Amino acid sequence: MNNQKCNSKENYPPIAGRSTSTQKPVADGFKIPLIPGSRPLQNSHKANEKDQPGKSEVKNVKKKHWTLSDFDIGRPLGKGKFGNVYLAREKESKYVVALKVLFKSQILDSDIEHQVRREVEIQCRLRHPNILRMYGYFHDDKRIYFILEYAKHGALYKTLKQMGRFDEKTAAIYVRDLTRALIYCHSLKVIHRDIKPENLLIGNDWELKIADFGWSVYSPSSRRMTLCGTLDYLSPEMLEGKPHNYAVDIWSLGVFCYELLVGLPPFDAKNSQQTYKKIKYVIIKYPDYISDKAKDLMGKLLVINPEQRLPLSCVLKHPWIIENAPEGVSMPVFNTEQNKTD
Ligand code: AMP
Repeated sequence: MNNQKCNSKENYPPIAGRSTSTQKPVADGFKIPLIPGSRPLQNSHKANEKDQPGKSEVKNVKKKHWTLSDFDIGRPLGKGKFGNVYLAREKESKYVVALKVLFKSQILDSDIEHQVRREVEIQCRLRHPNILRMYGYFHDDKRIYFILEYAKHGALYKTLKQMGRFDEKTAAIYVRDLTRALIYCHSLKVIHRDIKPENLLIGNDWELKIADFGWSVYSPSSRRMTLCGTLDYLSPEMLEGKPHNYAVDIWSLGVFCYELLVGLPPFDAKNSQQTYKKIKYVIIKYPDYISDKAKDLMGKLLVINPEQRLPLSCVLKHPWIIENAPEGVSMPVFNTEQNKTD
């Protein structure tokens, strides 16, 4: 039905760029990445400022190093595999942030030090309205603390579960905004590689924010984590251990679009072998209520050959996006109880 053509070639790097900043060893063997010029709470994003009237951004921060005593700690916001996230307020500026606390011992035991380091190095440098800001970090003997932008409406996964599925307009706005954020990441040679609703947060105005740039997080309510990690979102080339590039994020965008519209990922199955087979042969069933334009877009993203997936710039020009999420249209405030589907 939709024979939209878009031949724009995006000039992507073959593999994700890796930062090479130096590391400072500390007593217990945990190496802390050095972020050149990193000044927590500077240049914070406007969406967050809007919700913090009268709270000045900390523009003239004199000190470079933060400690726990700089913050008032509030309620827990959530629990991850390696630590907890708390609402916190910087004492001097009254600026509200989320403080993610990770235990160094658990990071070392699980051998994910490199992932944590990558998360810090990448996320501290990114500036985009649809990417969660990491203002900085600090550490003590036992813990490392990430100072993060506070995303008022929490995990997108939670909202999706509450609502069942999203209508096409809501889904299209999230797909459009995720696409914009991925275009930005790819332009900086960053491939996310773990796009899924659990790694996306929702800000003040219900806008999407990519979080978690280094590792998959533990999600007790998520079946796929306990069963098979992020198998549902893995591209065929990653599944088969082949070299992969930026196009894995385009595949995940297609999976994400389906999950928003249906409430379950497209390759959901009883066990991981079946999911594996469905991904390998791209076996997808679309419910009747999915529009032809939405199917057309997903069909162009969920393509086995990474080179033939629709470039992200073309996603923004796709008729389904143009119709449902035109430029300038943002997320309506929705009541998760009222808008429940099925
Ligand atoms: P994580 O360990 O990053 O997976 O975080 C666990 C949970 O904490 C998430 O599922 C969210 O509900 C919550 N959370 C994490 N980061 C933030 C944040 N920046 N703002 C608000 N809630 C957050």
